[in-house]
Parts: sequence; structure tokens; C-alpha cells
Amino acid sequence: IVGLKCFFLFVNNVNWKDIAGLDHLINELRETVILPIQKRELFADSRLTQPPKGVLLHGPPGCGKTLIAKATAKEANMSFINLDVSLLTDKWYGETQKLAAAVFSLAVKLQPCIVFIDEIESFLRTRTAHDHEATAMMKTQFMSLWDGLITDNTCNVIIMGATNRPQDLDKAIQRRMPATFHVPMPNLQQREHILQLILKSEPTADDIDYARLASSTDGFSGSDLHELCRQAAVYRVRDLAREELQREQSKTNNTNSDSDEEYCDAVR
Ligand code: ATP
Repeated sequence: IVGLKCFFLFVNNVNWKDIAGLDHLINELRETVILPIQKRELFADSRLTQPPKGVLLHGPPGCGKTLIAKATAKEANMSFINLDVSLLTDKWYGETQKLAAAVFSLAVKLQPCIVFIDEIESFLRTRTAHDHEATAMMKTQFMSLWDGLITDNTCNVIIMGATNRPQDLDKAIQRRMPATFHVPMPNLQQREHILQLILKSEPTADDIDYARLASSTDGFSGSDLHELCRQAAVYRVRDLAREELQREQSKTNNTNSDSDEEYCDAVR
């Protein structure tokens, strides 16, 4: 398949329990996206209740949009294709049209399926007269493939986009994504929950003060909190490794000085 270079089909192991502090959003997603997939026969009966074929997750970087997309696919028992748009946007890559067609055709074969497009605004941004011809053609083709999914009531494929800049998205694309969710920066309580989740199975001090940690990390995203914990864990292991190395070295030095003494005794 042409597209194999450009997208990844994940063995997806992300669950809701891997996401902290977003219970309200998860409930909304369950109602709006997952329930219509699980009870398709009820929702697909009328044009007014069709399950959404486009879902948009928007919010600041590192706040869990990708995690949410994967967990949605997992809970709904859907395949998950993570489409790397960078090659779709490369106007020198002559195969982009075949690639887009291959992605949609694979998604249909794998249905029920979520096609996840991170930074969706990077190639489906508001069209301008200055668009490169290849880019404009790509967008048009992508939208017409998407329309094919929307008009086919039996098709169980969802395009799920994520963006930090929803205002840059083409209006026509926004219309194709009727289910829109804001994934916000975590507040104090959410940061506390995220920290607890990240450190849940890590060796930490018994008296770790999560509330204090959360209040001193104002402005941190989930991804920043993960990086903070990673660095702290690495420092700890480095300290342990250094201590162990020093112990080994002093043992070696002692052994060497013992054999020095033995040598001197023999010479005497
Ligand atoms: P981007 O916009 O940069 O693509 P994103 O919103 O898609 O970012 P993710 O990739 O889902 O963010 O999250 C990055 C990492 O941050 C996750 O792998 C996880 O370690 C951590 N993280 C973010 N939000 C949460 C959360 N709510 N609960 C647990 N971990 C989180």
C-alpha cells in the first residue's frame, strides 16, 4: 500500500484509566461518540440521529487530545489509524492523492475505525487564493472522500482531528466535525489527579504532598507534569547509580591496597 510510509496502525493500549482529571469530558464523549457506535442500529435509523463522522478535539498542546482519541477507539472497540499529515502536505510528494484514497479505503476495510489526524489545521486550514495548487487539490480530494463516509449510513468510520488552533480550520471542515470538545489546561485539582496517576506505580516517598506539588505547577500541561516526574525519577536513579559506583570503587581501592601490603610483606 502506498500509504504504509505515511500512517501508523496502532496496537492501541490506551484506556480511560490512563487519563486523569477529564472525567466530565470522557462522559460527554461516551454519550456523543461512543454510545452511537455501540448502539448503531438505534442511531443510524434516522438522518437526524446519525452518529457523528467527524470529531474535533481542540486545546493547548500536551493536555491529552491524543490520549483521548486512543482511549475512545479502545472503549468503542474500533481500529485506530494515526495519520501523519506531514507527508500529505508535502507538495513534492507526487503520491499524496493515492495515499489519501488508500487511507480511506483501509479505514473502511477496518471499520469500525477512527482515523486520527493530529494538527489537522496544518493541512485543512482556511483556503486562500495563495494555496499551492497541489495543496488545494489535496484538500478538495480529502473532503470528497470524507463526504463519501458521511453519506454512507452503513459506514462506521470517524475522522477525529486534534488542533491547538481551531480558528485556523477551514469552515467547511468545521461543519464536517459536528462533535467538538475542548480539552483544557489542567486546573489545580486536575493537576493533582494527573500527578497521582503518573506516580501511581513509581517508588515515591510515603508522605508525598500532591496538593502542594499541584499548586506549585500552575500553568503546567499534563505533558509538562509527565516530564517533571520523569526528570525527578531520573535524578533519583542517577543518585543511586553514583552511590553504588562509589561503593564499588572504594571496595576495589581497598582490595588493591590489601594486595599492595601483601607484596611489600613478601619483598621484606
Ligand atoms: P499535542 O497537542 O502536542 O499533540 P496532546 O494534547 O495530544 O498534545 P497527548 O499527546 O495526549 O497531548 O499527551 C502527552 C502526554 O502528556 C501523555 O502521553 C501523558 O503522559 C501526559 N498527559 C497529558 N494529559 C494527561 C491527562 N489528562 N492524564 C494523564 N496524562 C496526561
